[in-house]
Amino acid sequence: MGHTPGKSQDAATDRGDTIPSAVRRGEPTLWLNPSVAPAAQALADLSIGQDDLGSAITDWKNFAPLLAELFPELEQSGGRIASNLLALSPEQSAEVTGPDGQDVPVVIKCDHLLPVAGSIKARGGFYEVLVLARALARKAGMDTSDSRVLASPEARALFANHKVMTGSTGNLGYAVGLIGRAMGFAAEVHMSVDARQWKKERLAAIGATVVAHPGDYARAVDNARRIAAADPQCYFVDDEDSKVLFLGYAAAAAEFAEQLAALPIHPTPEAPLVVHLPCGVGGAPGGIAFGLKHFLGDAVLPVFVEPVAAPCVLVQLASGRDQSTSVYDIGLTNRTEADGLAVPAASLLVCEQVGQLVHGVATVRDAQMFHWVARMAAQPGLRLEVSAAAGFASVRPVASSLTVRPCAHVVWTTGGGMMDDAQFEDVLARARAAAGSE
Ligand SMILES: *Cc1c(COP(=O)(O)O)cnc(C)c1O
Repeated sequence: MGHTPGKSQDAATDRGDTIPSAVRRGEPTLWLNPSVAPAAQALADLSIGQDDLGSAITDWKNFAPLLAELFPELEQSGGRIASNLLALSPEQSAEVTGPDGQDVPVVIKCDHLLPVAGSIKARGGFYEVLVLARALARKAGMDTSDSRVLASPEARALFANHKVMTGSTGNLGYAVGLIGRAMGFAAEVHMSVDARQWKKERLAAIGATVVAHPGDYARAVDNARRIAAADPQCYFVDDEDSKVLFLGYAAAAAEFAEQLAALPIHPTPEAPLVVHLPCGVGGAPGGIAFGLKHFLGDAVLPVFVEPVAAPCVLVQLASGRDQSTSVYDIGLTNRTEADGLAVPAASLLVCEQVGQLVHGVATVRDAQMFHWVARMAAQPGLRLEVSAAAGFASVRPVASSLTVRPCAHVVWTTGGGMMDDAQFEDVLARARAAAGSE
């Protein structure tokens, strides 16, 4: 079946069996993964293993003293990049879960408040640059057993000869640029047309070079990748194909499992924990789903949430193919106000890893995300960017589809913490406009 995606074949008829027609029409859909397998069996077959996850968790601990030195705001926490769990009130939980919700509690994993970067990219993006810095230092003969050596004048002088690059709709570029610049690297971020102006400006403000592309996210990534490949002093953080990035996200599962243990929530396969993860290229939700499966096995059901116009991971997984299938191939536009999720084609590496782990993928309308941005702003007072509210919109469809009563829904909020008042007012204004046009 080896044809080039998007060429000649009629995608609608060709893939009619496996990609639901509602997805092709751009309607909200819950796709339940027919390939899901018992966690132990699925994890055993993967190229990324428990050892890799263990190393990433250890790495984060080792990098903490360095992070505390690089960013004064982390001094208090000893350099921990972590976020809180926030339980919603029973009333507000019921509002999220809807009439079929069976009074299941809703808990928010507040990655929109991750320190320094204000988005989930602090996990993957930071990790990959830290791992790069350590490798360069070791290659130059430095002893990196104390990570703080990576902030020494000697290390900074070394990093000044190197450039970190990435392609981004905004948040990954910010995270990579921020930590790269903090360590003395040059940084260059290729942004897609979806990137918001203030996300470009704040990158320029930290001394990163911003290259604005007229095309979509995949084009921006492709451009950056080619430029970086031609320059040996350049390191490219490849959002579409990075095991390191994936593991940086996956390590969040250790933090999450520890926090969960302190709550009266006890996931079992009979009363599982449903975790709703906003999904772009798949790296962040994929890494976290992978990590969660290692910690909680069949007691956790990861659900990815994508905009109706950009369900790239759904399309890739449902196509059942090894080659890339994009949302354009099935007639969708990739046009969404959820800039962090405006991705036309999934990471194949991620789809390979999570193809048997993810419970399902829900698609949601922009208006639904805006609705939850506004609701969560009113109470409990969260400042979410549009993408970060996607998880709230998938709780109802998932709750209605389940044959068991879950022990809780976790909504993973993924970005928005760095917005100032004016930026957030702008989001709320667009939310009101979206509500008015419904
Ligand atoms: C990047 C991002 C995501 C999704 O991560 P992917 O790795 O692209 O799937 C979700 N929400 C926000 C706010 C993001 O910036």
